[in-house]
Amino acid sequence: MKKFSIAIHGGAGTILPALMTPQKELAYRTALNEAIRQGSNILEKGGSSIDAVESAVISLEDFPLFNAGKGAVFTNTGTHEMDASIMYGLNLNAGAVSGVSHVKNPVTLAKCVMEKSGHVYLSGKEAEIFAELNKLSLEANAYFYTEERFKQWQDVKDSDTYQLDHTDKSEQGEKKFGTVGAVALDQHGNLAAATSTGGMTNKKFGRVGDTPIIGAGTYANNDTCAISCTGHGEYFIRAVVAYDISCLMEYKGLSLQAACNYVVKDKLVKFGGEGGLIAIDKYGNIELPFNSDGMYRASLKEGESPVIAIYK
Ligand code: ASP
Repeated sequence: MKKFSIAIHGGAGTILPALMTPQKELAYRTALNEAIRQGSNILEKGGSSIDAVESAVISLEDFPLFNAGKGAVFTNTGTHEMDASIMYGLNLNAGAVSGVSHVKNPVTLAKCVMEKSGHVYLSGKEAEIFAELNKLSLEANAYFYTEERFKQWQDVKDSDTYQLDHTDKSEQGEKKFGTVGAVALDQHGNLAAATSTGGMTNKKFGRVGDTPIIGAGTYANNDTCAISCTGHGEYFIRAVVAYDISCLMEYKGLSLQAACNYVVKDKLVKFGGEGGLIAIDKYGNIELPFNSDGMYRASLKEGESPVIAIYK
C-alpha cells in the first residue's frame, strides 16, 4: 500500500492581502479545508483517487466564492456556461464537458461521461440531456446566480472585454482565475485529476478554455503525474501545459518539481501565460507552482495536517 496524498486549488491570479478582507480570507480557507477533507476522507478509507478528486471538486463547486458550479461567472448573454474534466491515471480514461448551464456539479457529469458514454467529451445542451438521462442533479439559472459575479458582469457587459474571473474594472491589470481543481494519489498507487470552471466573465460565442481539454487543463498518468491547471486558458491550451509536464517526466526523466518549475515559471512566463497548477507524482510528491501573485491552494499527505495557502 502507498501513502496517499491530495492537493486542491481554487484559482490563481492577482490575489493580494491588500485586496482581501479577514472575513473573506477566512471563508476561502474554510472552504479549502472542507474540500481537502472531503477528498482525504475517501483516500484514508482506501477509496480511489478518482472518487477523491470528484468529491473535493464538488465541495469547491458548491462554494459560491469560486468560479465553478454555484458562483460561476456570467457569459455575455447573462447565462452560465460551465466546463469540467476528469482523468484517471490507471487506464488514461477521461471525461469532459463544456458549455453546460444547469448541471449542479459539472465534475460529476465529466465523470459520468468517462464511465458511461463511450466518449470522452460532450458539449452544450446535448451534454445536459445526457446528464438528465443519468439522473444527475440539474438546477435552474437562479441557483448559479451570485451578486458578486453579477456585478462583475455588469461592469463589462457592454464592452468587448472578457474578464478572467473577478478582474475588476477599477483594478486594471488585475487577473483572478477562480477555477477549481484537485489531484490525488490513492493507497493503490493510482493518480487522478479533475478541474471545473465557469470560464471567463462576459465570454462570447461559446468560448471554451483549457479546463475541459485533456492534456491542457487536466491530465493524469500513473507513470508520471496528475495535473490540474488554472490560468489564462488560451495560453494553457496552446502550451498543452498538463501533458507537457507529464512528457518532460516521461521522455526526459525530469522530476515533478523540475518539470513544473520549467513549464510554469519559465516557459509560460515567456509565452505570456499567467496562472498556476497543482501536481502530484506517483511517489506522492506535491508541487503547487504559479506565476501570478497568489493561488488558493491546499495539500495533504497521509498522516500530516493539511497545508492551506493563498499568497506567494
Ligand atoms: N483556465 C480557466 C479558463 O480559461 C480560467 C481559470 O483558471 O479560472 O477558462
